[in-house]
Amino acid sequence: MRIHHLNCGTDCPVGGALFDGRSKGPLGRIVCHCLLIETDAHGLVLVDTGYGLRDVAHPHSPERRIPLPWRAMLNIRLHERDTAIRQVEALGYRAEDVRHIVATHLDFDHAGGLEDFPAATVHVMAREYDDATGPKRGFVARNRWRPPQLDDVARWRRYGAAGERWFGFDAVRDIDGLPPEFLLVPLPGHTWGHAGVAIRRDDGRWLLHAGDAYFYRGEMRSATRACTPGLRAYQRLMEANRRDRLTNQERLRRLSVEHRAEIDVTCTHDPVELEALQAGRAL
Ligand SMILES: [Zn+2]
Repeated sequence: MRIHHLNCGTDCPVGGALFDGRSKGPLGRIVCHCLLIETDAHGLVLVDTGYGLRDVAHPHSPERRIPLPWRAMLNIRLHERDTAIRQVEALGYRAEDVRHIVATHLDFDHAGGLEDFPAATVHVMAREYDDATGPKRGFVARNRWRPPQLDDVARWRRYGAAGERWFGFDAVRDIDGLPPEFLLVPLPGHTWGHAGVAIRRDDGRWLLHAGDAYFYRGEMRSATRACTPGLRAYQRLMEANRRDRLTNQERLRRLSVEHRAEIDVTCTHDPVELEALQAGRAL
């Protein structure tokens, strides 16, 4: 298999390094790190989709695909060239070649491109699907999940949390239609139905895409957690359950330290992690 690390969305929040820890100017740079995996027998697999074509063309009307308060807060930049479909095409493939999409969760900045791949089965935790498509309580819930991004998805496959043990986590081992090298790893906290996606590379090393279970590189691979104030505040704003979020983040941090030789742990929104993986450098 071959894994491509794509950026399918860029946010430039006012605050610069207070968000990303490195920008010199007033604007930061937050990415939407998605994976595109070329498999031998199962077509193309996407992990998350970032913003999609319909988000770029009509972000706010006639349907409210991108919530305006978040558009302003994150200073979201919408470019067609950033969409997963355009990047798939640039690699010489067509939308139909994407047979599976594994979704860490269904927030608007992760699910916007689902409808650009009508032949794909979308795999997601059942709780996430229920929360995203059902009745919603509260300002954050009504804005983070945008039904217009989801209602044209043809095939959903939903999963309960039960599964096998994987490095101390419970993992769903039977993702329908995918080989055992793909695991859904429930990591609730950011949302109740949030999950990471683990992929075993051909050389035996695992890549764990932890979605929004953490946001900043300093939260992994070191003895103590470090996070910028902007991303710390954003994670608190978006959390469904603080105790679960912090517990799972701590478990991930320990995993990234104690099993560094076996596993790469990465997240959605850190640009430094994305650049390292795109360049084939160690995290
Ligand atoms: Zn996100």
